[in-house]
Amino acid sequence: MRRGRRPKWMIEIAKERMDILFSLAQKEYDNKNNSCTNNPQRANERVNESSANERPNRYVELALKISKKYNTSIPLKWKRRYCKSCHKFLQPGINSKIRLSNNQVNIKCLECNHILHIPYKKEQKLKRRAKIESYTIKKRNHE
Ligand SMILES: [Zn+2]
Repeated sequence: MRRGRRPKWMIEIAKERMDILFSLAQKEYDNKNNSCTNNPQRANERVNESSANERPNRYVELALKISKKYNTSIPLKWKRRYCKSCHKFLQPGINSKIRLSNNQVNIKCLECNHILHIPYKKEQKLKRRAKIESYTIKKRNHE
């Protein structure tokens, strides 16, 4: 299939699928942490732990494959939830650290120590502009 010639519905489905995959990864992550804290004596779970650890990462791999295949970007909601270097699902506070510095968000992957920088200057600018706009609109309404 040629590039940039994908029908809209196909992209919509790809996005939906990626959303589902990331949601599943999130669920797996939550389940894993709950089972660790609530049922420490469940022996059967322990055996499967290594495969359970890998499952969220596999979902991420699948989502990335979809994004490549359909040439669509990962939904914004999940963009910061995986490591761009080792492709692992990141859970803030567990295997990733988020820090703010120099007008950017630094997300550190604790699996491979890769740091993802996301500048937020654009957001700041947009916010400022929205503020000015809402102010001028208010002013105009008063006149
Ligand atoms: Zn990583």
